[in-house]
Amino acid sequence: MNKIVEELLIEKHRAQPPRVLLVAAECSPFSKTGGLADVAGALPKSLGALGFETRVITPYHRCIKEKYAHLTTHLCNFEISIGWRRKYVGLEKLEAEGLTVYLVDCDDYFGDKIYRGDRAEVEQYAFFQRAVMELIPCLDFEPEILHCNDWHTAMIPFLVKTQYRGRPQGGLKTILTIHNLAFQGKFDFAYISDLLGIDGYWYRPDCIEHYGCANFMKAGFVFADRITTVSPNYAREILTPEYGEGLQNVLISRGGDVYGIVNGLDTDSFNPATDKCIAKNYDINTVFEAKRENKIALMNELGLTCSPDTPIVAMVTRMTSQKGFDLVMQRIDELMQENVAFVLLGSGDKYYEGFMRDAENRYKGRLCAYIGYSEPLSRRIYAGADFLLMPSAFEPCGLSQLISMRYGTVPIVRETGGLKDTVMPYNCFTGEGTGFSFFNYDSGVMLGTIKYALQTYWNREAMDGLIRAGMSVDSGFEKSSLEYARLFMSLIHRNNYVATHDPLGEEFRSPMGAIKAGESVTIRFRADDGLTQCAKLICGNESYEMTKKGDMFECTITPENAGIVWYRFLLDNQVNLSADGVDCGTRCFQLTVYEPDFETPEWAEGAVMYQIFPDRWCREGIAPEKGAKYHKKLQRTVNLRDDWNTPVKWHADEGETHYVPNDYYGGTLKGIEKSLPELAEMGVKCIYLNPIFEADSNHRYNTADYSKVDPILG
Ligand code: ADP
Repeated sequence: MNKIVEELLIEKHRAQPPRVLLVAAECSPFSKTGGLADVAGALPKSLGALGFETRVITPYHRCIKEKYAHLTTHLCNFEISIGWRRKYVGLEKLEAEGLTVYLVDCDDYFGDKIYRGDRAEVEQYAFFQRAVMELIPCLDFEPEILHCNDWHTAMIPFLVKTQYRGRPQGGLKTILTIHNLAFQGKFDFAYISDLLGIDGYWYRPDCIEHYGCANFMKAGFVFADRITTVSPNYAREILTPEYGEGLQNVLISRGGDVYGIVNGLDTDSFNPATDKCIAKNYDINTVFEAKRENKIALMNELGLTCSPDTPIVAMVTRMTSQKGFDLVMQRIDELMQENVAFVLLGSGDKYYEGFMRDAENRYKGRLCAYIGYSEPLSRRIYAGADFLLMPSAFEPCGLSQLISMRYGTVPIVRETGGLKDTVMPYNCFTGEGTGFSFFNYDSGVMLGTIKYALQTYWNREAMDGLIRAGMSVDSGFEKSSLEYARLFMSLIHRNNYVATHDPLGEEFRSPMGAIKAGESVTIRFRADDGLTQCAKLICGNESYEMTKKGDMFECTITPENAGIVWYRFLLDNQVNLSADGVDCGTRCFQLTVYEPDFETPEWAEGAVMYQIFPDRWCREGIAPEKGAKYHKKLQRTVNLRDDWNTPVKWHADEGETHYVPNDYYGGTLKGIEKSLPELAEMGVKCIYLNPIFEADSNHRYNTADYSKVDPILG
């Protein structure tokens, strides 16, 4: 196990790192249309090397079935609801290529097309997400964290926190990684609501509604525990209107929860020394001769007839406006006036495809536009070209530039997103740099940069330096997976913080018990884990820094008004300390503040008081209106007995870890009467019947008499 992970585990009082299930629409090498697949395939392996157990769940696309069906194990199958339909879902397990992958099988949704486009795609991935949620309990693996990726899985955090609340799936932590914010999954709510059975209550601007549509990505941003994107620069960019695709404000509202972790490569797979697809294998020491051989092979394969000395500029890409094709189209003719060859491997927008085919005809022998998708050819291009062009309008991370550098091909990129983070611009004075870059999204600037690169091509020393520097870049996933590891660990709080506070304990509150308005009270908690660095006491909207004294944190406050003060502790700005000791969201402690002129009656001084809650909490069905309403508001399920006559003792509900006094349930006067001798034996001098709301109702107590004892509760 990695040393840093070991240290994190000790800090977190854990023996093993959290188990992570990565959820993605595609996963390399089983299925792939772009960078998402590369990450889904490489990250689990790299996390595995750090000591994590990370598995993947992905659709059982036909391309996987064709190649790997004989290696899968059937785990289960059943039917699930999607809209008004019941659909078969099967769960297959595949252990291959160094990964453990769960495959969600349903021929109706997962066939030839990884993405079906338009409305069919929503149904396809609504089904996938529902299936994942339903299949989690059937896995032979118990994940603690779901790592979701892009809009196809972005409703999962929402489902976890709403529909699956209270079920085992509801306890999972979620991370959503943005690979491309341009795709958000926006559809009319009626359709989404039908597919996933979502209540209209959630169709609100602070949940899943966004400018009149239900937006999967937004739901993910609101509900995921953490949000990441694939480069630090893109993480900054998406907080601006220019790159935020309309969701910048939602992301800004998540503030510190948005992280940028740059992608890495599967360096075993993308390795020119072992790549079986290329003509001649090489490493940094043999790159110069081998590259020429690969270049000649590539030129022959693609029908390029120019001299092998001619520099080749290549693009391997989806053909969309994101990738800067408008700039390429504007300047391709000018570029081809230079001594250059141009190779394109890509598919996508028909308009760009047509244009590039046309260009191929005009520059036969020097320009090849291979319209299609071919992983082996892409590798031969990375190995054989001299430059890789990526003039992207935006680029969350970009993998092509990383692959090209690893294969000794010099990238020419626009300084945006991850391209800015990963390509260091060439400095002709120092010889430093790994590529060429430009900032303005302008075709003239792009052309100028390409021309500069072509000029440099003839300076052998400079080119060698660029190639070596690029090949030396550490583009593996190790560094990034360590950052993911830290993030995953930060989500696991259970047993992390050993801290205690007991509002009835002398060492935790002085003075003890209730105080008068205007009086000061010092509140403390103990943190003997050596872990807590800072803490805040939070009372309603107010927050007070606490001071560390030995293993205690303390803070003195002076409530000005009578009432109940609810307070809680926030440790290290992230963990809520509760009555149970560790993180559990909103649980608060209570401090009673009396009116300044309130005096304890003489008869109550020093008395052992026994507090009984009479049966004021409604009894389901027979409760008075008021009680029922109150009960509902409190959202409590309190089982009332008709009679309060069981022995006075504390008991633990079955399966519960906390103890509940019997009297918590209240009872009738008859029951109380019966218990008087027992109470007397316990030394009780005074019984305090504690009605909380005005009870002119059924429970036979005159609450007015007690208003003096407890003016607040009275
Ligand atoms: P994106 O994920 O936006 O498509 P990336 O640069 O992050 O862009 O990842 C693209 C990945 O897909 C790279 O591995 C690249 O080699 C591969 N790729 C893109 N288009 C093709 C294609 N037509 N044929 C083969 N591989 C391609």
